[in-house]
Amino acid sequence: MILETFPVGPLQCNCTILGDEVAGEAIVIDPGDEVGRIQRRLTELGLKLKQILITHAHIDHVGGALKLKRLTGAPILLNENDLPLLKMMEMQAGWIGIPTPETAPPDESLADGLVVGLDRYPAQVIHTPGHTQGSVCLHFAPLKLLVAGDTLFAGSIGRTDLPGGNSEQIIDSIESRLLSLPSETKVLPGHGPSTTIGAERKSNPFLRSL
Ligand SMILES: [Zn+2]
Repeated sequence: MILETFPVGPLQCNCTILGDEVAGEAIVIDPGDEVGRIQRRLTELGLKLKQILITHAHIDHVGGALKLKRLTGAPILLNENDLPLLKMMEMQAGWIGIPTPETAPPDESLADGLVVGLDRYPAQVIHTPGHTQGSVCLHFAPLKLLVAGDTLFAGSIGRTDLPGGNSEQIIDSIESRLLSLPSETKVLPGHGPSTTIGAERKSNPFLRSL
């Protein structure tokens, strides 16, 4: 198994490559920027890109998706509840003062319960609205791994002051959908260091049921 996470772009979004060297396939999660670097890494690893998975439609997570799709032919998957945000890309670019990346509607919605990823490393989609209405986490149960987007961070939670954000909802999403996962589940957040479900259940100051 190949699992590489590295920050991309001015907001340092964590981009993840998960690869199966036996099958020669990979998925990329949240190619927000630096698509050339992501594409080079896939080539170095000899992996064909199977899916581009987007945890939510903020520019720092989705900004490079269409470019990567054009380079590789891989489909883009994004939860349909974030389509309004995807259409606000020019405004989002204005927030951080960067050129507006070209976007296109996803090929498929990352609907709750959908199984995505690689044959040997599948993930179940967990819809966790609150940071945005279409935010999802990807649970790779056999790998004891959760890719959490901007829903859950080490010692923090996602901001809810942007369009589509809802602070009650994000806490409810985390408490009802994520904290029930096994304690040893490694959490890869959309920004910053990794953590575990157990550590966040025990000490995350934003969660009520401690
Ligand atoms: Zn975000």
